[in-house]
Amino acid sequence: MSLIVQKFGGSSVKDAKHIRNVAGIIAETYLQGNDVIVVLSAQGDTTDDLIAKAEEINPHASKREMDMLLSTGEQISVALCAMALEGMGLPCVSLAAWQVSIQSTSVHSDARIKKIDSERIRAELDQHRIVIVTGFQGVDRNGDVTTLGRGGSDTSAVALAAAFRADLCQIYTDVDGVYTTDPRLVPNARKLDEITYDEMLELASQGAQVLHNRSVELAKKFRVNLEVLSSLERKPGTKVKEVTKVEKTNIAGVAKDTSVARVALVGLEHNPGVAFQVFDLLSKHNINVDVILQSIGREDTKDISFTVHKKDLEETVQILTDSKQTLKFDHIAADDHIGKVSIVGAGLMSNCGVAAKMFEALYEAGINIQMINTSEIRVSVLLDEDDVNRAVKAIHAKFFDEA
Ligand code: ASP
Ligand code: MG
Repeated sequence: MSLIVQKFGGSSVKDAKHIRNVAGIIAETYLQGNDVIVVLSAQGDTTDDLIAKAEEINPHASKREMDMLLSTGEQISVALCAMALEGMGLPCVSLAAWQVSIQSTSVHSDARIKKIDSERIRAELDQHRIVIVTGFQGVDRNGDVTTLGRGGSDTSAVALAAAFRADLCQIYTDVDGVYTTDPRLVPNARKLDEITYDEMLELASQGAQVLHNRSVELAKKFRVNLEVLSSLERKPGTKVKEVTKVEKTNIAGVAKDTSVARVALVGLEHNPGVAFQVFDLLSKHNINVDVILQSIGREDTKDISFTVHKKDLEETVQILTDSKQTLKFDHIAADDHIGKVSIVGAGLMSNCGVAAKMFEALYEAGINIQMINTSEIRVSVLLDEDDVNRAVKAIHAKFFDEA
């Protein structure tokens, strides 16, 4: 007998028919003799609809009240799913995060799970009940409901799998696994049988939308056996694990992210401490900076360019402008019409031809690179937003069609 955590995304529970389908998968797993903990997202577009409802009432609602509202979506799903299982004569119980309890920090709308109590779920499993838990939510030390950030149900599932040392954590979605790139953009994208935690983490943080990136971080940390698969087709998905098959001549995938904007500080003084001042100021305002580039200085000035999330652009420019006197730069140039394309692969850095191959694909497509940034297993380029899709296609073709 194994303990299996099964998480179903919003599209997998969007209506009665889909909930019945999900109940069928859960029932099958349970009837094979396994303990099952289920984690659900809100149905379909529920979370977006709730956000729209809030905006109609008060576009500046507090994050606490937003969490109170958004957490209801998941509560609907778990109750309906439990009813479907009850209808099949199976013992089950639905639980909200505060009933479990899944304790989190108090950062409303972006809370982190701190600790999961095991007592309640353990007791239910001992009674041979299927336990159905709300994804996406937690409860803070004051007993207030929090949410874990958009897409956070994946993280709820992996955290539960880690807390209960589950044998397997299955993330069911509407695609049948992790692809070499977005199959909607590149129809001949390939499904990967397996991928490493590190590769998945880079892909998730570079814009691939399959998994919440914190869920992958957690899975790596606690060595959770993770599998991404389709709730609509019964076939093997993609396994996410520490090491994959040795053959590593190719990259794992190509990701794109059009949520970035670029800021350039032009004409900064060429003195020690300038970069520190700029990024310290931004970090104090909780603005995450990604790609950073400093130009070779001119006589006594230099430029620093970096990227931020598009939603933070206005605030970033405002903060820097307010500090123009202390930072002493000539002017700011901001550009929100850019995008980022990345290749990811565990064998990338021991294989120096890989980056060149990416640049060759861009050259052949006549696409200009604005900035380049690398990690051990990733190369990212910043491009004009209009070139992003073309770049993904060209790079994917270079790596996967010309082999
Ligand atoms: N319902 C939440 C969202 O739409 C959480 C999730 O689905 O993972 O972001
Ligand atoms: Mg998701």
